[in-house]
Amino acid sequence: MPELPEVEVTCQGLIPHLLKRQIVSVCWSNKRLRLPVPRKLLREKITNNRISAIGRRAKYVLIRFQDGSVLIFHLGMTGKLGMFKSSTPAAKHDHLRLLLDNNLELRFNDVRRFGSVSVWPAERAESLEQTFNKSQGIEPFGPLFTGQHLFQLAQQRSVPVKTFLMDSRVIAGIGNIYANETLFAAGIHPQTKVNTLTKTQWQTISKSCQVILKKAINAGGSTISDFLGSSGQPGYFQLQLAVYGKRGESCSQCGKSITKTSLAGRATFFCSHCQPL
Ligand SMILES: [Zn+2]
Repeated sequence: MPELPEVEVTCQGLIPHLLKRQIVSVCWSNKRLRLPVPRKLLREKITNNRISAIGRRAKYVLIRFQDGSVLIFHLGMTGKLGMFKSSTPAAKHDHLRLLLDNNLELRFNDVRRFGSVSVWPAERAESLEQTFNKSQGIEPFGPLFTGQHLFQLAQQRSVPVKTFLMDSRVIAGIGNIYANETLFAAGIHPQTKVNTLTKTQWQTISKSCQVILKKAINAGGSTISDFLGSSGQPGYFQLQLAVYGKRGESCSQCGKSITKTSLAGRATFFCSHCQPL
């Protein structure tokens, strides 16, 4: 499932191919995604419009147009955005194809269809974006992602720290893999109640999280040159993981065995020696 690094790397890979290009035509499958595909808006607001910027907010890809309209993708569980030559035959689960004025196509492929495509038309884009931003948590690379601020946010809550890190209304873009890895790096047990953590512990969490996400983005960034390769997507990349998926393996810090449990229905990996409760 794409988390912040995968979405960030996708954006960075798209920029050189999409920036300043005009959308010539749009076509879609007849399948419903998590939300219905906004065909009328794609036809009226996006077709013949020119791309002015590409960026990420939380786990969303935002493609901005010169008139102020915005096209928003969420990758869901299996969504992928890729660039293809228009002569490349469409794949089975390509649900949206945008033909550009350089004969390339931006294609949204999504096997399980939990992803979504939305359009904010220029005349309402500003207010829609404000509402959207309010519904999203703070950015791990933004100015609010400090030990002090996280400590304050946690005071009214008593959920386990792993659940807190993965709550997209609190913090943007962190899913199961990076929540597990952050807590291992910070030496904090995933079940620790958030309101019992000290400011210093929150500082360690925020720093560990940024280091891990940055490493993952860099690992993915090295595959960007392949963006327009045979797959049309950035190559498979994976941060060297320390605990996620490592049940029974030796902890890299102390050599003891990695434990797996379930927390809020999600697979949770930790070292009970390095991350005591
Ligand atoms: Zn250990």
